[in-house]
Amino acid sequence: MTLKNTQPYTTNRDRLSCDLLVAGAGVVGLWTARLAAARGLNVIVLDARAAGSGASGGLLGALMPHMPERWNPKKQFQFEALASLENEVRKLEAETGLGCGYRRCGRIIPLIKPHHRDLAVERIEAAENVWDSAQTGYAWAVSDSPEEAGWPDAASGPNGFVHETLSARVSPRNYMAALKASLDSKARIVESDGLLSFEDRSARVTTASGTPIDAGHIVLAAGHETFELLGRLTGRPPADYGKPVKGQTALLDADIDADLPLVFSDGTYVVPHAAGTVAVGSTSETDFEDGHGTDEKLDDVIAKASRLCPALEGARVLERWAGLRPKAVRRDPMIGVVPGCKRTTVATGGFKITFGIAHKMAACALDFALDDQCPSLPESFTIDAHLR
Ligand SMILES: Cc1cc2nc3c(=O)[nH]c(=O)nc-3n(C[C@H](O)[C@H](O)[C@H](O)COP(=O)(O)OP(=O)(O)OC[C@H]3O[C@@H](n4cnc5c(N)ncnc54)[C@H](O)[C@@H]3O)c2cc1C
Repeated sequence: MTLKNTQPYTTNRDRLSCDLLVAGAGVVGLWTARLAAARGLNVIVLDARAAGSGASGGLLGALMPHMPERWNPKKQFQFEALASLENEVRKLEAETGLGCGYRRCGRIIPLIKPHHRDLAVERIEAAENVWDSAQTGYAWAVSDSPEEAGWPDAASGPNGFVHETLSARVSPRNYMAALKASLDSKARIVESDGLLSFEDRSARVTTASGTPIDAGHIVLAAGHETFELLGRLTGRPPADYGKPVKGQTALLDADIDADLPLVFSDGTYVVPHAAGTVAVGSTSETDFEDGHGTDEKLDDVIAKASRLCPALEGARVLERWAGLRPKAVRRDPMIGVVPGCKRTTVATGGFKITFGIAHKMAACALDFALDDQCPSLPESFTIDAHLR
């Protein structure tokens, strides 16, 4: 498929035209636009609100690998993404002069029950193999106490602690700002104007403000709202594709060392960021009335995080934040050309791990837009697998 137009964002009377239209300026949409612009395509990114105003505008930014046993293509995809992200972030920072708050900080997991320790010990060898520790240096180790006294509390791991060195963290907002800045003069970002309607046959798009756009191809990267757009395009119920899952997080001013590892225990994340701040999270709510309000569930998360890491006790809460994660129907990301719609590709559903894999999700979406295929995509990420 050839998408190349002759002129960037050509305007014919009031009609815009581009090679690729990306709906949604979250981390997935901005990466898609960045990679497409690097390949010489004329790109328009539409966001119904503002770039980074969706789930990507949060606070946590944990980049954690899947467990190293029962390795499969999905885990390999995520591993390759996590391993390559540092370099991608460094390039982005060099290009834009903006820091992304990235640090390969590692992760500590307290081992609560005796069988957790047995499993953790079995994982040492599994990690060595699948993470190729000899080459990469990423390691999984088990010890009786945390390396840094009190981080987390020794009592949180009665059966010891895992310390792995592959996990990292990024500042979601700084990362989004750098991604957006990297598109300056390379793509057109239109904010406060969402994709309203579109026709796959002609790839003719109308925005909420009524602007018509002719696009060679459309990538739907509108986070959880992609499911609604897919429903409109295909006539299927949006829930066939996926649903939003609400999460609440907080940013604390804890005056702690920004180089400390992130801590993950029983669904609670404690993620040290720059300038002594620590993000804690997050809830996972499938039933909610207000997708963006915070409540006592977040208080519980803060209390749990403070028990885990007593250095957080009494820390000032700088911000409370809630957002909606896109969870595709089978939990994995959903990427590919929409069946029966050859000019429309979807890229969403990264759920809880999107920050670590968005650049690879975007590369696959672009492969679909340009070549109708992406051989490196795990089968479980395909739309067919989700709809099966
Ligand atoms: C509380 C919480 C904590 C999280 N923690 C982590 C974490 O630690 N690590 C991690 O990897 N992930 C984490 N996630 C998940 C991650 O934030 C999301 O999976 C990711 O940001 C989704 O990115 P996206 O680009 O797919 O969607 P979004 O960031 O939601 O972007 C979608 C964009 O599309 C726009 N849009 C919507 N409709 C339209 C339309 N019709 N036309 C044009 N634009 C439209 C929206 O305005 C929005 O800007 C967390 C999520 C939450 C809520």
